[in-house]
Amino acid sequence: MTFHERTRELAHNLAIVQRRIDNACAHASREPRDVHLIAITKTYPSSDVEILAELGVQDFGENRDQEAAVKIAEVRKRYPALTWHFVGQLQRNKARSVASYADVVHCLDRAQLVEAVADGAQRAGRQIGVLIQVNLDDGPATGRGGAAPADVDKLARVAAGTGVLSVLGVMGIAPLGDDPRPAFTTLQRVSQQLRSQFPEAVWVSAGMSGDLEYAIASGATHLRIGSALLGKRA
Ligand SMILES: *Cc1c(COP(=O)(O)O)cnc(C)c1O
Repeated sequence: MTFHERTRELAHNLAIVQRRIDNACAHASREPRDVHLIAITKTYPSSDVEILAELGVQDFGENRDQEAAVKIAEVRKRYPALTWHFVGQLQRNKARSVASYADVVHCLDRAQLVEAVADGAQRAGRQIGVLIQVNLDDGPATGRGGAAPADVDKLARVAAGTGVLSVLGVMGIAPLGDDPRPAFTTLQRVSQQLRSQFPEAVWVSAGMSGDLEYAIASGATHLRIGSALLGKRA
């Protein structure tokens, strides 16, 4: 595919996603400007990031440290003002690297990881926004990570106490294949509970390509959209 063809394809996909967001907002009596689109560009090249940036997308997300580090270094030279989100499961030994380039880390779910990201932020001389990831699986956890709802406030206090992490809110991944609504309702409840302690922590990162309408109906403020924008990943 030529650059021109890919540009047309991404513009088309972006228009469809935007329309879905607008429709879901109308349905939920919400303002589209209160719902932020994060393009999840994992497995796709930096040229796609640049095309989407030219089309007006400001926020991008990645889920693997090595891929993210390379891609962001490539893109940042030409597009220094983009906001980069790290959305994947994060191992402690990658935290320092991620803290050197991510603006927002969505997946903090245990105190050790909070401290490792804070340590990285300190070394890099950066202030990083963080979200506490909430486990939304009922029954046994499926390995996608996330703190128990009851532990979210405590983790937020640990993060805020580091001085280099700003607690922005919560993040959740609805169980795949199930009706996502109960999970998003739980996330909204945990968000309210967190905001009673941290009034600024208003972000609710929820909703992916398949469930963004439900996420918007339940109060999501940040959508993480991959395949609906970029295509099915190999
Ligand atoms: C890949 C990924 C997404 C995007 O998923 P799509 O279904 O492709 O939109 C969102 N959130 C996380 C944490 C991801 O890893």
